Amino acid sequence: MTLNPLDAAQANGKPTEGTAQYGGGAQVDRPLGRSIKRGMLNNCPACGSGKLFRKYLKVVDNCAACGEAYHHHRADDLPAYLVILVLGHVLVGGFMLTDLAFPAPGWVHFAIWAPIGVIASLLSLQPIKGGVVGLQWALKMHGFSGREDEVEEIGPAHGD
Ligand SMILES: [Zn+2]
Repeated sequence: MTLNPLDAAQANGKPTEGTAQYGGGAQVDRPLGRSIKRGMLNNCPACGSGKLFRKYLKVVDNCAACGEAYHHHRADDLPAYLVILVLGHVLVGGFMLTDLAFPAPGWVHFAIWAPIGVIASLLSLQPIKGGVVGLQWALKMHGFSGREDEVEEIGPAHGD
C-alpha cells in the first residue's frame, strides 16, 4: 500500500521552517485603522498627540511631539481623487433625490449644489489627505520604510 505524498505531508503536520511572519520582530506597532484615523483627525499617526499639518494641506516635516519624519510622504493626488470619488457620488445622489422631491429649474440646483460642492471639497480635503498619509505610514510605503525612496528607472537605458 502506497502512501499519498499529500497525506504524508499532512501527517508530518509541521509548518515549513522559515515561513515569513508578517509584522514580526521588534518593530513598532503600526495598526492601519488607528493610523488612518489619527491622520484624519490631524494627529501624528505614530504618537497621536503631535499635529500632522502645519498649514491647510502642508504636512509637517517632523512631528513636534515624537519627531517622526513625514517629509517623505507621497500622498500626491490621491486625496483629491478620493474627494472627487466620494463627493461626486454624494452630490449627484443628493441632486437627483432633491430633484425628484422638489422639481426645480437647472439654475436653482446649480445655485444650491455648486457652493455645497466647493465647501464640502475644501472641508474634506485635509482629513482625507491626513488619512492617506496615515495609511502610507502604517504600510511603511515610500520613505516610511526607513530606506530611501528611490525612483525606479524604467524605459530604455540612456547613454548608448
Ligand atoms: Zn508624533
